[in-house]
Amino acid sequence: MNKKNLIVANWKMNLKTNDGVKLVQHVLDNGYDSDVIEVVICPSFLSLEAINRTVTKSPISVGAQNIFWIAGEGPYTGEVSSYLISGVCDYVIIGHSERRTILNEDDVLINKKVVSAIENDIVPIICVGETETNTSESDVKSMIFEQIAYAYDGISDEDAINTVIAYEPSWAIGTGNNNDSEVINRVCLECIRGGLNELYDSRVSNLVRTIYGGSVTGSIVSEIVQQEFVDGVLVGGASLSPDGFLEILRNSY
Ligand code: PEP
Repeated sequence: MNKKNLIVANWKMNLKTNDGVKLVQHVLDNGYDSDVIEVVICPSFLSLEAINRTVTKSPISVGAQNIFWIAGEGPYTGEVSSYLISGVCDYVIIGHSERRTILNEDDVLINKKVVSAIENDIVPIICVGETETNTSESDVKSMIFEQIAYAYDGISDEDAINTVIAYEPSWAIGTGNNNDSEVINRVCLECIRGGLNELYDSRVSNLVRTIYGGSVTGSIVSEIVQQEFVDGVLVGGASLSPDGFLEILRNSY
Protein backbone atom coordinates (compact mmCIF):
# COMPACT_ATOMS: atom_id res chain seq x y z
CA MET A 1 0.00 0.00 0.00
CA ASN A 2 1.44 3.26 -1.02
CA LYS A 3 0.01 5.93 1.29
CA LYS A 4 1.90 8.05 3.78
CA ASN A 5 0.09 7.73 7.09
CA LEU A 6 -0.42 10.81 9.24
CA ILE A 7 0.22 10.30 12.97
CA VAL A 8 -1.02 13.15 15.17
CA ALA A 9 -0.12 13.34 18.87
CA ASN A 10 -2.70 15.22 20.93
CA TRP A 11 -1.05 15.91 24.28
CA LYS A 12 -4.16 17.67 25.64
CA MET A 13 -3.46 19.49 28.98
CA ASN A 14 -0.35 17.40 29.72
CA LEU A 15 3.45 17.70 29.67
CA LYS A 16 5.28 20.81 30.84
CA THR A 17 7.50 22.30 28.15
CA ASN A 18 10.72 20.57 29.33
CA ASP A 19 9.00 17.17 29.42
CA GLY A 20 7.51 17.70 25.97
CA VAL A 21 10.87 18.74 24.51
CA LYS A 22 12.49 15.62 26.05
CA LEU A 23 9.81 13.39 24.53
CA VAL A 24 10.26 14.83 21.05
CA GLN A 25 14.04 14.63 21.37
CA HIS A 26 13.70 10.96 22.34
CA VAL A 27 11.67 10.31 19.17
CA LEU A 28 14.21 12.17 17.03
CA ASP A 29 17.19 10.40 18.65
CA ASN A 30 15.69 6.94 18.25
CA GLY A 31 14.12 7.46 14.84
CA TYR A 32 11.28 6.13 12.71
CA ASP A 33 10.80 5.90 8.97
CA SER A 34 9.83 9.42 7.96
CA ASP A 35 9.47 8.37 4.33
CA VAL A 36 6.35 6.38 5.16
CA ILE A 37 4.71 8.41 7.93
CA GLU A 38 4.16 12.08 8.69
CA VAL A 39 4.19 13.07 12.38
CA VAL A 40 2.44 16.07 13.94
CA ILE A 41 2.89 16.98 17.61
CA CYS A 42 0.12 19.05 19.25
CA PRO A 43 1.31 20.33 22.64
CA SER A 44 -0.31 23.04 24.78
CA PHE A 45 -0.08 26.61 23.48
CA LEU A 46 2.65 27.26 26.05
CA SER A 47 5.00 24.71 24.49
CA LEU A 48 4.38 25.39 20.79
CA GLU A 49 7.46 27.52 20.22
CA ALA A 50 9.83 25.23 22.16
CA ILE A 51 8.57 22.15 20.33
CA ASN A 52 8.80 24.02 17.05
CA ARG A 53 12.49 24.84 17.77
CA THR A 54 13.15 21.21 18.74
CA VAL A 55 11.78 19.87 15.44
CA THR A 56 13.54 22.41 13.21
CA LYS A 57 15.33 20.56 10.39
CA SER A 58 13.39 17.39 11.22
CA PRO A 59 10.34 16.03 9.35
CA ILE A 60 8.09 16.48 12.42
CA SER A 61 5.40 19.18 12.21
CA VAL A 62 3.70 21.08 15.01
CA GLY A 63 -0.02 21.61 15.56
CA ALA A 64 -2.21 23.48 18.04
CA GLN A 65 -5.10 21.84 19.89
CA ASN A 66 -7.50 24.74 19.34
CA ILE A 67 -7.83 28.29 18.01
CA PHE A 68 -10.17 31.20 18.53
CA TRP A 69 -12.71 31.72 15.75
CA ILE A 70 -11.49 35.19 14.79
CA ALA A 71 -8.46 34.86 12.54
CA GLY A 72 -6.51 38.04 13.35
CA GLU A 73 -5.70 40.11 16.44
CA GLY A 74 -7.98 41.98 18.87
CA PRO A 75 -9.43 42.43 22.35
CA TYR A 76 -10.20 38.76 23.11
CA THR A 77 -8.69 38.07 26.52
CA GLY A 78 -7.26 34.60 26.89
CA GLU A 79 -7.77 33.58 23.27
CA VAL A 80 -5.18 32.56 20.67
CA SER A 81 -5.90 33.07 16.96
CA SER A 82 -4.76 31.26 13.83
CA TYR A 83 -2.77 34.41 12.99
CA LEU A 84 -0.84 34.21 16.28
CA ILE A 85 0.14 30.57 15.74
CA SER A 86 0.92 30.91 12.04
CA GLY A 87 4.62 30.42 11.42
CA VAL A 88 4.78 28.09 14.43
CA CYS A 89 2.05 25.57 13.55
CA ASP A 90 1.16 23.80 10.33
CA TYR A 91 -1.93 22.09 11.76
CA VAL A 92 -4.70 22.73 14.29
CA ILE A 93 -7.17 20.29 15.85
CA ILE A 94 -10.73 21.65 15.60
CA GLY A 95 -13.92 20.31 17.14
CA HIS A 96 -12.38 17.72 19.45
CA SER A 97 -15.15 15.94 21.36
CA GLU A 98 -13.77 17.20 24.68
CA ARG A 99 -14.28 20.76 23.46
CA ARG A 100 -17.70 19.90 22.01
CA THR A 101 -18.88 18.46 25.33
CA ILE A 102 -16.95 20.26 28.08
CA LEU A 103 -16.82 23.69 26.39
CA ASN A 104 -20.12 23.40 24.49
CA GLU A 105 -18.57 24.04 21.07
CA ASP A 106 -21.19 23.59 18.38
CA ASP A 107 -20.99 22.94 14.64
CA VAL A 108 -21.45 26.61 13.72
CA LEU A 109 -18.49 27.63 15.89
CA ILE A 110 -16.43 24.77 14.52
CA ASN A 111 -17.07 26.01 10.97
CA LYS A 112 -15.83 29.50 11.96
CA LYS A 113 -12.64 27.95 13.33
CA VAL A 114 -12.12 25.94 10.14
CA VAL A 115 -12.49 29.15 8.09
CA SER A 116 -10.08 30.93 10.42
CA ALA A 117 -7.43 28.18 10.17
CA ILE A 118 -7.61 28.19 6.36
CA GLU A 119 -7.31 31.99 6.31
CA ASN A 120 -3.86 31.67 7.88
CA ASP A 121 -2.77 28.60 5.88
CA ILE A 122 -3.04 26.20 8.80
CA VAL A 123 -4.41 22.73 8.03
CA PRO A 124 -7.51 22.03 10.14
CA ILE A 125 -7.84 18.52 11.58
CA ILE A 126 -11.61 18.39 12.00
CA CYS A 127 -12.90 15.88 14.56
CA VAL A 128 -16.24 14.15 13.92
CA GLY A 129 -17.98 11.10 15.30
CA GLU A 130 -20.73 9.72 17.48
CA THR A 131 -20.83 10.01 21.26
CA GLU A 132 -22.55 6.80 22.34
CA THR A 133 -21.25 3.27 21.94
CA ASN A 134 -23.63 0.93 20.05
CA THR A 135 -24.90 3.79 17.86
CA SER A 136 -26.23 2.19 14.67
CA GLU A 137 -24.12 2.70 11.56
CA SER A 138 -26.95 4.60 9.89
CA ASP A 139 -27.13 7.01 12.85
CA VAL A 140 -23.33 7.40 12.80
CA LYS A 141 -23.66 8.26 9.12
CA SER A 142 -26.30 10.93 9.59
CA MET A 143 -24.38 12.48 12.51
CA ILE A 144 -21.14 12.63 10.54
CA PHE A 145 -22.87 13.90 7.37
CA GLU A 146 -24.30 16.75 9.44
CA GLN A 147 -20.99 17.53 11.20
CA ILE A 148 -19.23 17.63 7.81
CA ALA A 149 -21.92 19.76 6.15
CA TYR A 150 -21.54 22.38 8.90
CA ALA A 151 -17.73 22.22 9.14
CA TYR A 152 -17.24 22.75 5.38
CA ASP A 153 -19.89 25.43 4.90
CA GLY A 154 -18.39 28.06 2.57
CA ILE A 155 -15.11 26.16 2.07
CA SER A 156 -13.96 26.02 -1.58
CA ASP A 157 -12.86 22.82 -3.31
CA GLU A 158 -9.20 23.84 -3.26
CA ASP A 159 -9.27 24.70 0.44
CA ALA A 160 -11.20 21.53 1.32
CA ILE A 161 -8.52 19.36 -0.29
CA ASN A 162 -6.00 20.59 2.25
CA THR A 163 -7.95 19.49 5.32
CA VAL A 164 -7.93 16.39 7.49
CA ILE A 165 -10.95 14.70 9.10
CA ALA A 166 -10.46 12.64 12.24
CA TYR A 167 -13.11 10.03 12.99
CA GLU A 168 -13.16 10.07 16.78
CA PRO A 169 -16.11 8.29 18.41
CA SER A 170 -16.04 9.95 21.83
CA TRP A 171 -16.90 6.67 23.62
CA ALA A 172 -13.52 5.36 22.41
CA ILE A 173 -11.44 8.31 23.60
CA GLY A 174 -9.33 7.61 26.67
CA THR A 175 -11.36 4.52 27.54
CA GLY A 176 -9.25 1.68 26.15
CA ASN A 177 -12.25 0.69 23.97
CA ASN A 178 -11.06 1.33 20.46
CA ASN A 179 -13.42 0.75 17.57
CA ASP A 180 -13.15 -2.29 15.29
CA SER A 181 -10.75 -1.63 12.39
CA GLU A 182 -13.22 -2.76 9.72
CA VAL A 183 -15.92 -0.51 11.15
CA ILE A 184 -13.40 2.37 11.19
CA ASN A 185 -12.63 1.70 7.53
CA ARG A 186 -16.32 1.67 6.63
CA VAL A 187 -16.97 4.92 8.50
CA CYS A 188 -14.01 6.60 6.74
CA LEU A 189 -15.38 5.50 3.36
CA GLU A 190 -19.15 5.70 3.72
CA CYS A 191 -19.61 8.44 6.29
CA ILE A 192 -16.61 10.72 5.78
CA ARG A 193 -15.94 10.37 2.04
CA GLY A 194 -19.67 9.93 1.57
CA GLY A 195 -20.35 13.14 3.53
CA LEU A 196 -17.75 15.03 1.49
CA ASN A 197 -19.26 13.66 -1.73
CA GLU A 198 -22.51 15.45 -0.84
CA LEU A 199 -20.59 18.73 -0.98
CA TYR A 200 -17.74 18.23 -3.43
CA ASP A 201 -16.75 16.05 -6.36
CA SER A 202 -14.78 12.84 -5.84
CA ARG A 203 -11.47 14.54 -6.63
CA VAL A 204 -11.87 16.45 -3.35
CA SER A 205 -13.19 13.59 -1.23
CA ASN A 206 -10.39 11.28 -2.40
CA LEU A 207 -7.74 13.78 -1.35
CA VAL A 208 -9.01 14.78 2.10
CA ARG A 209 -7.10 12.62 4.56
CA THR A 210 -9.24 10.63 7.00
CA ILE A 211 -7.67 9.45 10.24
CA TYR A 212 -8.98 7.60 13.32
CA GLY A 213 -8.65 8.46 17.01
CA GLY A 214 -9.78 6.58 20.11
CA SER A 215 -7.51 4.54 22.42
CA VAL A 216 -4.91 3.80 19.74
CA THR A 217 -1.80 2.01 21.05
CA GLY A 218 1.32 0.52 19.49
CA SER A 219 -0.21 -2.93 19.49
CA ILE A 220 -3.30 -2.05 17.43
CA VAL A 221 -2.15 0.81 15.23
CA SER A 222 -0.87 -1.35 12.41
CA GLU A 223 -4.21 -3.11 11.91
CA ILE A 224 -5.97 0.28 11.79
CA VAL A 225 -3.64 2.06 9.35
CA GLN A 226 -3.57 -0.94 7.02
CA GLN A 227 -7.24 -0.31 6.28
CA GLU A 228 -7.65 1.10 2.79
CA PHE A 229 -9.55 4.28 3.67
CA VAL A 230 -7.71 5.12 6.90
CA ASP A 231 -4.84 7.56 6.36
CA GLY A 232 -3.46 7.65 9.88
CA VAL A 233 -4.33 8.07 13.55
CA LEU A 234 -4.87 10.74 16.19
CA VAL A 235 -3.34 9.58 19.46
CA GLY A 236 -4.02 11.00 22.92
CA GLY A 237 -2.90 9.01 25.98
CA ALA A 238 -0.39 6.77 24.22
CA SER A 239 1.45 9.78 22.77
CA LEU A 240 2.51 10.91 26.26
CA SER A 241 5.01 8.11 26.79
CA PRO A 242 8.26 8.41 24.81
CA ASP A 243 8.57 4.67 24.19
CA GLY A 244 4.82 4.16 23.72
CA PHE A 245 4.72 6.88 21.07
CA LEU A 246 7.82 5.54 19.34
CA GLU A 247 6.20 2.11 19.22
CA ILE A 248 3.16 3.67 17.50
CA LEU A 249 5.37 5.41 14.95
CA ARG A 250 7.30 2.25 14.19
CA ASN A 251 4.12 0.18 13.79
CA SER A 252 2.23 2.69 11.64
CA TYR A 253 2.91 1.12 8.26
C1 PEP B 1 -7.88 12.07 21.55
O1 PEP B 1 -7.87 12.76 22.54
O2 PEP B 1 -8.10 12.59 20.45
C2 PEP B 1 -7.65 10.64 21.67
C3 PEP B 1 -7.80 9.90 20.60
O3 PEP B 1 -7.29 10.18 22.91
P1 PEP B 1 -6.90 8.67 23.30
O4 PEP B 1 -5.89 8.20 22.30
O5 PEP B 1 -6.33 8.80 24.67
O6 PEP B 1 -8.15 7.86 23.26
